[in-house]
Amino acid sequence: MPVPGSGLAKGLAVTLRTMTRRSVTAQYPDVQPELAPRTRGVIGLFEENCTVCMLCARECPDWCIYIDSHKETVPAAVPGGRERSRNVLDRFAIDFALCMYCGICIEVCPFDALFWSPEFEYAETDIHELTHERDRLREWMWTVPEPPALDPAAEEPKEIAAARKTAEKLAAQQAKENTEEGDSA
Ligand code: SF4
Ligand code: SF4
Repeated sequence: MPVPGSGLAKGLAVTLRTMTRRSVTAQYPDVQPELAPRTRGVIGLFEENCTVCMLCARECPDWCIYIDSHKETVPAAVPGGRERSRNVLDRFAIDFALCMYCGICIEVCPFDALFWSPEFEYAETDIHELTHERDRLREWMWTVPEPPALDPAAEEPKEIAAARKTAEKLAAQQAKENTEEGDSA
């Protein structure tokens, strides 16, 4: 059976402990908070990578990503080749009044076009102004921290390995041509 008055004593002990602790009130906006570099502040769009695949808009649980695009015909790269069509981005906007910062859009983007930025100062006085368009989303890309350095022992990324092999092949071809020209001169 609890001792009468023990609850009150416990409560007073908590009050005393809290009263003697240093205040942790943040003096924002006079003092900027120290945030972790990969804080989920806002979503940046690297629109050069966006292929308008619509995956992010389809997977967003809040349906708050708005994308418009049109198709464009690209002429054949070589004579007799086939024309191709590609999607051109007309509009990319995110309604941050609806966004719940789940990060699903960033996770599912297959082309690395969406990133978390630690930027958080985009409050508005009107909720309708929380829909941000591609220009603003592109600007936030400048605040995205660099990706962590690769593990030196890790396998070379496929894209870099392929680019390096092509460059080596071209250099070897060029060297061979130079040698042949030198011999014939
Ligand atoms: S973070 Fe989540 S809610 Fe916000 S836009 Fe991306 S998928 Fe939608
Ligand atoms: S998933 Fe990525 S590439 Fe596809 S529309 Fe969204 S941002 Fe663009």
